[in-house]
Amino acid sequence: MSDIETGKFSIDELENVQITIGKIVGAIEKKAKEEGVEVGPTPKPGISGLRDWDHKLLSRYQPVYTPVCDQCCYCTFGKCDLGGNKEGACGINMEAHQARETLLRVITGAAAHSAHGRHILHHLIDIYGRDKAIDVGPSNLVAPNTQAVTGIKPETLGDLEEVMDYVEEQINQLLATVHAGQEGAAIDFESKVLHGGMLDHVGMEVSDLAQMSCLGMPKSDTEAPLVEIGMGCIDSKKPVLLVIGHNVSGVTYIMDYIHDHNLDDKIELGGLCCTAIDMTRYKVENGGQPRAKVIGTLAKELKMIRSGVPDVIVVDEQCVRADVLEEAKKLSIPVITTNEKIMYGLPNRSKDSAKDIIEDLSTFKDPGALILDYDTLGEVAPELAIKMSKIREDMGIKALPSDEELQGLSEKCVQCAACEMDCPANLPIMAAMKAGVDKDFSKFEELHDVCIGCGRCDQACPKDIPVLDMIEQASRKIIREEKGLMRAGRGQISDPEIREEGVNLVLGTTPGIIAMVGCSNYPNGTRDLYTVADEMLKRNYIVVMSGCSAMDLGMYKNEDGQTLYEKYPAKFLAGNLINVGSCVSNSHITGTAIKVAAIFAQRNVSGNYEEIADYITNRIGAVGVAWGAYSQKAIAIGSGCNRLGIPVVVGPHGSKYRRALIGKPYDEAAWKVYDARDGSEMPIPSSPEFLLTTAESVEELFPMLAKNCIRPSDNNMGRMIKLTHYMELSQKYLGHMPEDWYKFVRTETDLPLAKREQLLKILEADHGWEIDWKRKKIISGPTMKSDVSAQPTNVKRLCKGEC
Ligand code: SF4
Ligand code: SF4
Ligand code: SF4
Repeated sequence: MSDIETGKFSIDELENVQITIGKIVGAIEKKAKEEGVEVGPTPKPGISGLRDWDHKLLSRYQPVYTPVCDQCCYCTFGKCDLGGNKEGACGINMEAHQARETLLRVITGAAAHSAHGRHILHHLIDIYGRDKAIDVGPSNLVAPNTQAVTGIKPETLGDLEEVMDYVEEQINQLLATVHAGQEGAAIDFESKVLHGGMLDHVGMEVSDLAQMSCLGMPKSDTEAPLVEIGMGCIDSKKPVLLVIGHNVSGVTYIMDYIHDHNLDDKIELGGLCCTAIDMTRYKVENGGQPRAKVIGTLAKELKMIRSGVPDVIVVDEQCVRADVLEEAKKLSIPVITTNEKIMYGLPNRSKDSAKDIIEDLSTFKDPGALILDYDTLGEVAPELAIKMSKIREDMGIKALPSDEELQGLSEKCVQCAACEMDCPANLPIMAAMKAGVDKDFSKFEELHDVCIGCGRCDQACPKDIPVLDMIEQASRKIIREEKGLMRAGRGQISDPEIREEGVNLVLGTTPGIIAMVGCSNYPNGTRDLYTVADEMLKRNYIVVMSGCSAMDLGMYKNEDGQTLYEKYPAKFLAGNLINVGSCVSNSHITGTAIKVAAIFAQRNVSGNYEEIADYITNRIGAVGVAWGAYSQKAIAIGSGCNRLGIPVVVGPHGSKYRRALIGKPYDEAAWKVYDARDGSEMPIPSSPEFLLTTAESVEELFPMLAKNCIRPSDNNMGRMIKLTHYMELSQKYLGHMPEDWYKFVRTETDLPLAKREQLLKILEADHGWEIDWKRKKIISGPTMKSDVSAQPTNVKRLCKGEC
C-alpha cells in the first residue's frame, strides 16, 4: 500500500481511486519520477488509449476488404450470409466482420508470442531469479517497445513480469471484443487490430530480452558467427536429433547434455523454424561457436521427416505440423513433445526416469512421450537418438521411393488433376508425372523449391501416389547440395549504432531500412528473397532479416560462392545485412525505429507511444516485407509495424489475411500534416502509400520498396537518392519510368544528378512546370517546399503553443 500516491481517501470516496488487482496504478509514475524519467500521456494504454492516433492513420490508410468467405458462423444465430455487405442476425455487417476476422488473427498471433514470452520468462526466473539483470548489449534503451507502450524501463527479469501482466490483460480484453454482440464498427475493430499488433511487439520484446539476458545469445554483435544451414548440412550417418518449433527453453537442456557428455561430434542436432535460429544463438556470445545446425523453415518439416533422416523428433510450440506424430510413426521415429501447447495425445512421462522412457520409446511401446521436465528431456532426447540410430539402421528403414519406383508411380497417375486442385501453390504435378513415365524426373526436381511441403497432393490422389515423396526423391541431388550459411541472430541494434546512423536515415541519405521477415509461404520459391536483398543492399539500403526469411536468404550463393551474409557486413549501416534473430526478435526492428526517435531525436519514449509513432511515420524510411507470410503471428507483427506508421508488403498469399490498408495518393487532403513549429498545415509526399498491401511479384515489389521509403524529412540529397532508386528499379523491373515520380520533387536538387536536365524537360513538357533554363532551376510546379527544418506531425497537440 505504500505505493499509493493519490493522497488521503475515505471509503466514501473510493470511486476516485483507481485500483487494479495486486497492483496500484501510479507505481510506474512514482518509480519513473524517482528516476527522473518523464512519462508520456499513455503508459499502459487500454483499448481506447491510442484510438485517436489509430483513427488518424486509418483515415489516411483506409481498410480494403477482400473476404475469403462471405459467411459468418461465430454463433448459433448463424451461419449468416454477409454477401453484399448484408448484416448478420446480430447486426454486424460484412466490413465489420472482416475487420473482426483480422483482429482475431492478430490477437492469436500476439497471444502466441506473449505466451512464449511468459513461458520463457517463468522458466528463466525459476533458474536465475527475479533480480537477474536484463543485459542485451551496449544500450541504455534496452526495451524500446516496452518502454514506449508501458512506460516501464525494465532492469530485471522481475520487471518484465509486470509488462507481461499488462500485455496479457490487454489481449484478453481484445479477445472479448471478438464475441458476438460487441464492437460493430469496422474502424474500431481496425483500431483494435493496431492495438493487438502493438502488444505483439511488446510480448516479442519480453521473450527476446529474457532469453538474450540469460542464454548467452549474441548482444548487438556485428560479428555474430555464421551457422551452417540446409538439409544438405546434416550428416545422416550420425544419429540425427531434429527439433521443431519456437521455444528454445527445453532445447538448451538437450544442448547442454550433448556438450557436457562430449557428444558434440557424435550427434547431429538440427532445427526447423525459429527454435533452430535460437539454438544457434545459444551460448555463442563472446566468440562461442554454434552447436546446432539449421535445417530450414516450416516448408521443410514434412520433407525432412519423409526423408527418414531424423532418429528422434523433439517439438515445442508454434508452426509445428499437426501430423508430425503420424508421419514420424510411419518411419519409426519417436516424437517427444515438450510444451503443453502441443501434446499429440501422448502419455505424460515427465515424472518418469530417463532410462524407462528411453526403453519404452526404443521398443515402440509408445510412439512418443510428453516430457515437461527439462532435466529428463535433456538426457532422453540425445541418448534416445543414439539408440534409435542403430535400431532404425538395423530395421533397414526406407523412406523415399527408389528411382525405379518413381517410374512405376508415375505410370499409376491417371492425370485426374485432383492433386493440382488441392495444391496451395498450384504446382504442375501432372506434367511431372507425365515426364516421369519416360524416366525424366527433372520436372519433379523443379518442384522441390516451390513446393511448401504440405502433403495435400498425397491426400487428394485417388491412386494413393505419394507425390511429395516423389518430389523429394527426384530432388535428392539438389538436397545434398542444400548447404548455406546464416549469420546467427545478433539481437538488438545498439544505442551507439543508432547514434551513428540515425541522422542518415532521417535525412534519407541512407535510403531506408528494408526488413524482410516472416514465414516461408513464398509465391515462387525461396530465391526471390536473395534477389530482393542483394539488389537493395547494392543500393545501400540497410537490410534486416528475421525468422524463416533469415534462413532462406542464406541458402543462395553468388558466383564467388558467397552467401549474402558473407558478402555484406552486419552493422547497422547503409549497405549492411543484419539478422536480428528469430521471429520474437522482430521487436528489435520496430525497436530500432523507436530508438532513432529516442536517441537521435531525443524524444521522450516512456508511455509516449503516439509521439514516437508520429515521429517514425514522418521521418524513418522503412518498409517491411513478409514475402511468405502465412501465420497469424505474421499479421500481428505487420500490424505492430503499422501502428508505428511502418508500411508492410506481403506476398500474394497475404491477400488471404482479407484486408489491406491503402492510402489514396490522389486525395490531396489526406497528405497534409501540421508543421510543429507553428501549427500550420503542410503538404507531404504520398509515401508511404499504404500500411499493408500485397505485391504479386518481385518485379512489382522493387519500385514499391524504394518509393515507400520516401519521407517528408528527406533532405535534397536524401530525396535525390531515393528517387534515383525508385526510377531505376521501376525501369529495371517494370520496364518503364514510374508515372508519379514528379510528385516527390520539391526542387531541382531533388532530381537525380545524372538525369537532371532530361527530367527538367519532362517536368516542363508533360507537367507544365516552369523552368529557368539558364540556371536550370524549377520556378514553379511543385506542391511541396523543401524545408528540412520543418517539423511534420499528425498530432496537433505537439505543435508549438498547443500544449
Ligand atoms: S456473430 Fe452475427 S453474423 Fe456471425 S453468425 Fe452470429 S449472428 Fe451471424
Ligand atoms: S506438398 Fe507440394 S506439391 Fe504437394 S500439395 Fe503441397 S505444395 Fe503442392
Ligand atoms: S491426383 Fe494422383 S492420379 Fe490424379 S493427377 Fe495427381 S498424381 Fe495423378
